[in-house]
Amino acid sequence: MAKTRTRTACLPEGYRCAGATRPRPGTILYYLGLGSNLGERLCHIEAAIAFLQGCGRVLKRSSVYETTPVGMPGAGLFLNMVLTLESQLAPLELLARCREHEAAQGRDLNDSHYKDRPIDIDILLAGDLALATPELTVPHPRMCERGFVLVPLFEIAPKLVHPIEKVTVARLISRLAGGGTITRLG
Ligand code: ADP
Ligand code: MG
Repeated sequence: MAKTRTRTACLPEGYRCAGATRPRPGTILYYLGLGSNLGERLCHIEAAIAFLQGCGRVLKRSSVYETTPVGMPGAGLFLNMVLTLESQLAPLELLARCREHEAAQGRDLNDSHYKDRPIDIDILLAGDLALATPELTVPHPRMCERGFVLVPLFEIAPKLVHPIEKVTVARLISRLAGGGTITRLG
């Protein structure tokens, strides 16, 4: 018997999704990474989820993980998680809203990559889109090196294929060089 195939090819360019879930027409399926290592970390994560629910539909959420900071000597432990957001917002519009939310939660938007932050919202993937603008690069350029992104991503999207690397999240995890610890909190 012939295999049933998912008909992603008939969707408009940019609206296909590199995983098992398909977004509704006119929307993009985003994968977002959340992180907090300052203040009431879980409250910041929960506030970010509530904020994102105002940007579209939050479809899947990973567990929250406690992770050791990568490339941030002396920084406090992070809470990290990943979720999917189906949204009509264009990537740059979503980024702008996320940056506004980060600032409202007390993050100094002029800080460096290496500074503690109450909340960080990263656009990991935007369907199969590949973008490189001064403000936004998608897929997120560092996601493939980050266990704190890949492990929660694997939890919610084990079949997801990275649109540029063309390999699954599991394969990306197997390539990780090691480093910090990642503990699932539930
Ligand atoms: P990271 O989250 O990678 O550790 P930062 O949060 O400190 O780094 O970086 C914030 C900057 O990264 C912002 O100025 C934002 O415009 C830019 N940026 C580029 N691509 C992305 C992306 N995919 N998601 C979020 N921010 C991005
Ligand atoms: Mg960020």
